[in-house]
Amino acid sequence: MPKLVYDFAEGDKDLMDLLGGKGANLAEMARLGLPVPPGFTITTEACRVYLAEGREPAGLRDAVGGHLAGLEAQAGRTLGRSDDPLLVSVRSGARFSMPGMMDTVLNIGLNDASVAGLAARTGDERFAWDSYRRLIQMFGKTVLGVPGEPFEEALDKAKRDRGVTGDVELGTGDLKVLAAEFKDIIRGATGAPFPQDPRMQLDMAVRAVFDSWNGERARIYRRRERIPDDLGTAVNIMAMVFGNLGMDSGTGVAFTRDPATGRTGVYGDYLQNAQGEDVVAGIRNTVPLDELEHIDKRSYDRLLQIMKTLEDHYRDLCDIEFTIERGKLWMLQTRVGKRTAEAAFPIAVQLADQGLIGMDEAVARVGGDQLGRLMFPRFHAGPRARRIAAGIAASPGAAVGVAVFDSQTAVRRARDGERVVLVRRETAPDDLGGMIAAEGILTSRGGKTSHAAVVARGMGTACVCGAEDLDVDTVRRRFTGPGGVVVAEGDVISVDGSSGAVYLGELPVVPSPVVRYFEGGLDPEGPEAGDLVKAVHRIMSRADAVRRLAVRANADTPDDAARARRFGAQGIGLCRTEHMFLGERRVHVERLILAGTDAERERALAALLPLQRGDFTAILEAMDGLPVTVRLLDPPLHEFLPDFTELSVRVALAEARGEPSEHDRRLLAAVRRLHEQNPMLGLRGVRLGLVVPGLFGMQVRAFAEAAAACAGAGLHPRGEIMIPLVAAVQELEAVRADAQRVLAEVAAETGVPLDMPIGTMIELPRAALTAGRIAEAAQFFSFGTNDLTQTTWGFSRDDVEGAFFAPYLDKGIFSVSPFETLDRAGVGRLVEIAVAEGRARRPDLGLGVCGEHAGDPASVRYLHEVGVDYVSCSPFRVPIARLEAARAALGETAGDTR
Ligand code: PEP
Ligand code: MG
Repeated sequence: MPKLVYDFAEGDKDLMDLLGGKGANLAEMARLGLPVPPGFTITTEACRVYLAEGREPAGLRDAVGGHLAGLEAQAGRTLGRSDDPLLVSVRSGARFSMPGMMDTVLNIGLNDASVAGLAARTGDERFAWDSYRRLIQMFGKTVLGVPGEPFEEALDKAKRDRGVTGDVELGTGDLKVLAAEFKDIIRGATGAPFPQDPRMQLDMAVRAVFDSWNGERARIYRRRERIPDDLGTAVNIMAMVFGNLGMDSGTGVAFTRDPATGRTGVYGDYLQNAQGEDVVAGIRNTVPLDELEHIDKRSYDRLLQIMKTLEDHYRDLCDIEFTIERGKLWMLQTRVGKRTAEAAFPIAVQLADQGLIGMDEAVARVGGDQLGRLMFPRFHAGPRARRIAAGIAASPGAAVGVAVFDSQTAVRRARDGERVVLVRRETAPDDLGGMIAAEGILTSRGGKTSHAAVVARGMGTACVCGAEDLDVDTVRRRFTGPGGVVVAEGDVISVDGSSGAVYLGELPVVPSPVVRYFEGGLDPEGPEAGDLVKAVHRIMSRADAVRRLAVRANADTPDDAARARRFGAQGIGLCRTEHMFLGERRVHVERLILAGTDAERERALAALLPLQRGDFTAILEAMDGLPVTVRLLDPPLHEFLPDFTELSVRVALAEARGEPSEHDRRLLAAVRRLHEQNPMLGLRGVRLGLVVPGLFGMQVRAFAEAAAACAGAGLHPRGEIMIPLVAAVQELEAVRADAQRVLAEVAAETGVPLDMPIGTMIELPRAALTAGRIAEAAQFFSFGTNDLTQTTWGFSRDDVEGAFFAPYLDKGIFSVSPFETLDRAGVGRLVEIAVAEGRARRPDLGLGVCGEHAGDPASVRYLHEVGVDYVSCSPFRVPIARLEAARAALGETAGDTR
């Protein structure tokens, strides 16, 4: 049988998984010889068995009994003994600190008899009764689940009857009456008396801690923080020490350095004559910790000494809870302290400068998520902010603007100098103009990989999607939110893409200095750069020196390319060409689709060619000297045509007026012909290239001519051609042969040798499973993990996140959306097969990843392990990927930044 209970003396900080954070650190402090009250920890393993089987594991009761006996021997007292009781606290303590779980029950061991013993020992009857009524109240609330209000009401009434305002002003008699009332409340609510047996109190409290693992708030917290549901919590049982035994006692919290800036100093709060929960409850005002020097110099000096010991030992910022009992200092808790993203970078660099850690460890101590948080402007949501909806935080950032409901209005009003937020039920490629013009995007449908989300992230535009509470009425140009709030076109709203919140009116924002630094607008060595930017610069410099993975960007405009380059991108891994076929150019696409003869089609393609060449030239210029992977057209053609319903109405109305338009009628026929039930699985990607003659050829020619022109101008273009949605090598072979022919033609025409690698996306399971064969026709693979996830799971990426991911997450089917973090077991397996078989067939095969996962910290670390050459993500995520690639390369030392 595994060991279910550990004395503090038996554990250490490396046993976090088994003893939880609190237990492991208490054990570590005990090992360091610091003054920790004696106690023991019930393991997370015991909790896991309890949760699985619905009862305590065999042997737990005896093990607790054994350790309790040891504790009693150490303390020289017996739990709950009537003349001189040992009292204990019971606290939860999971691997990761987790608000929402049952916290603490103090004073276990008190009952109608031992309360007198406690009074006698401490010489303070009031204190004893106050402790007892606290126990009954806390036990009732947290262990027995009795609502808190009746206790509060009884307490308030007692104070009113006495004509006092503070708890401390109640006398012994009042507290005795209250204790009796509290017991009545428990009996009334549960039908059973408050348990008098100390051991029973202890066992019930332990069980309540176990149960609280599955409390609703704990589950919600775990889901948000991606903490696995099956870890369980440890339980810490510790001899009570009292901070409420008079003015020479007290309790406090301390940080070894400022968690907001990282500066060393004395940070914390102290409250005289109080127990832990008084500090948190804010019942009385605490004093700054440095005042303890005047209150109790000996304890203060000892505390500072301990803080130094802890920081040197943990080599990180620690936070501490302590209690002073009649002039004796006790440590109740320590842990490596949480810090804001703003503090994490400066702290890591300061610790390195102090020689406590090396620069590599400094890199490992910060995370891509934290860096991401530093990059987006933030709202200051003050108390008057009016929140009207919440959706999925799809693309971070803070946007303020007038609500508009269609792309054209967005473009027009933005051109007139207004800031706009585009509100749609969902977006489509045709909304791109409006999306670019908008400060922010709000949709009522779709998840994190919906069109709106992907495009917004790519552009670094704030986006909240899937705000299902909103009823968006694009016809009447307004949306209705919960409670009937109506926002009409022109009303100002604020959209927080970092939290998913939407507010009515304008919230103030603050710009990010970190982005100014990445943009090159803030010199990290200059006087304007603060500690944060300096620290980010040093960490990023080190990160770039140690990472193996290259980082490219997904960009399809020269501006995006240039920005990506400033952000450190080493090329473009995915240039989606579909965005180049919209706006004014759509007519040419329409002509291509409607072409009845070869000549008509060739004319349409010829009109597109120079436009496309111009796009590519500008991008190659922006990325001069770095690889640029152009992906040939991917989406189904009907996305470039008008909406079927709208067009049908237009044609019908025109016919009714007797003014039929031949063009519209042909268009309608084409829309009908191209309609697909499942367009994402239809005529798109390489299939388009094979059935629309000349389309891919035109794109290849445009790219080749652009490269030749750049080379002619003395630049160093490094184009790569990428074919999307290949499932069979034969598809690739056919398209590749065409592309090679066009490249040879352009080389001959221009006299510029064109050595452009031709590769394929691997974004269908069949491609991954036949990767060895496909590698024969591909010089590189780029994993399109968006489509690969969609087709592996059979999840429509535009629909499922909003539709049913919430219950899936609730039921623990996955702890994070597979569209967000790469699913290693399924999608990852396909990637691994393709990497292995592709490389086996072609050892110099280039390998990249260009799905959304390429900018996700956890996925980047995985992709490093898989051994791809580069990841390619949206420009704003390039720094995040650079940092995570470094953390991955630093391997085991990369800590958890949660
Ligand atoms: C992908 O499928 O992962 C990909 C990058 O292509 P897109 O998102 O454009 O389909
Ligand atoms: Mg794709």
